[in-house]
Amino acid sequence: MTQSENSRSHAVVVGGGPAGLMAAEQLAKAGWQVDVYDRMPSLGRKFLMAGRGGLNLTHSEDLDTFLARYGAAPASVVSAIRAFPPGDVIVWAEGLGEETFVGTSGRVFPRSMKASPLLRAWLRRLDGLGVRFHARSTWRGWDADGALIFDAASGERMVARPDATVLALGGASWPRLGSDGGWVKILTEAGVAVTPLQPANCGFRIGWSDYMGKFAGEPLKRITVSLGEATVTGEVIVTADGLEGGALYALGAEIRSALAQGPVTITIDLRSGLSAEDLVRLLAKARKGDTVTNTLRKSGLSPAAIGVLRDAFGRNLPDNPYALAAAIKSVPLTIKSVQSIDRAISTAGGVAAEALDDHLMVRTRPGVFVAGEMLDWDAPTGGYLLQACLATGVAAANGVLAWKAG
Ligand SMILES: Cc1cc2nc3c(=O)[nH]c(=O)nc-3n(C[C@H](O)[C@H](O)[C@H](O)COP(=O)(O)OP(=O)(O)OC[C@H]3O[C@@H](n4cnc5c(N)ncnc54)[C@H](O)[C@@H]3O)c2cc1C
Repeated sequence: MTQSENSRSHAVVVGGGPAGLMAAEQLAKAGWQVDVYDRMPSLGRKFLMAGRGGLNLTHSEDLDTFLARYGAAPASVVSAIRAFPPGDVIVWAEGLGEETFVGTSGRVFPRSMKASPLLRAWLRRLDGLGVRFHARSTWRGWDADGALIFDAASGERMVARPDATVLALGGASWPRLGSDGGWVKILTEAGVAVTPLQPANCGFRIGWSDYMGKFAGEPLKRITVSLGEATVTGEVIVTADGLEGGALYALGAEIRSALAQGPVTITIDLRSGLSAEDLVRLLAKARKGDTVTNTLRKSGLSPAAIGVLRDAFGRNLPDNPYALAAAIKSVPLTIKSVQSIDRAISTAGGVAAEALDDHLMVRTRPGVFVAGEMLDWDAPTGGYLLQACLATGVAAANGVLAWKAG
């Protein structure tokens, strides 16, 4: 280590996903020596996965509407986003050479749609700032003296005694990408409160009749899903045993909380673009001398939507246009459970708000900060996930700087 490195403050960031890398960037820019440890052979694997279907970085809606998507998120997360809002994410991405655009849904994407060019440019920037990377290094907790303990793939045990630590270990979805929720045990044993992790932005099991299997992968477009007073219009996809997709993800928190009491019945309007009267007219016109199935097809329902209707009401659907329209516009489906966290897009639950101060520092471990999906917040898809991870990465780094100065 050189003389100047010796005199610099030293931070360890554990977890090289978007939250950890953003914390590393801020600290390195502030002149800190930063070491990033990750258990995987390379960094940002979930970020790269996020880019597979088009990297949705953030959203262009107004900030109050945007913040409302985070429901009951802790105040520290909301103020982190206010301090590093969607416009800052766009400036940051464009600073890394990734021009962005606003899609028709208001979502913001890089022009390339991918995460790989952004990640490459980001790692180059961090390298230029002197950030050191330690791949294949799994964090195991703290030793009796408070030093961080890591296991290298070689079996070698390493310890680090930084001036400050940022934990950014992610949630527990897609564990093969690195974040497996193994940190929950470490933090709980260290006395840090953690709200149990649950799958978020994931599918729900309905337990279809066997014939629904043939519709797996088929979309139900322009539908409205309702649970009590909450309604969302959008699209869902039929899966082998239930449904997944944006319109359900947006109701995910409500559905999960209702599931704690037992099965939950949602209703789906399969022709939400049409009023009941217009649908009755359409059905009456199509009905003349035709079978119910043909009538449904002619009125614009896809085979998958007809399958869902039949699954809910059985084979004997009414042929009276009024009763049929009422059925199409209010299909009751009973959700039995949440699908596995392994394929969920994100994780709800995490380090509890009361365990942290306003700067995301663990109250019982001064100098240890938390960022990203391992915090206890939840949001639907639409760019809200990366936005919160990046913003809390900035906030945790600012917390480190304020604490050290303070
Ligand atoms: C299929 C899919 C698509 C997605 N698409 C989008 C999208 O378009 N837009 C969006 O906003 N979000 C999207 N997301 C969500 C987004 O990718 C995550 O919210 C985000 O990556 C979380 O960032 P993070 O830094 O908190 O955690 P992660 O990205 O999970 O990073 C955590 C890191 O910590 C490391 N780690 C874990 N435990 C240890 C340990 N004990 N020791 C050392 N290292 C450890 C992991 O290896 C990992 O690299 C998507 C997710 C998935 C799965």
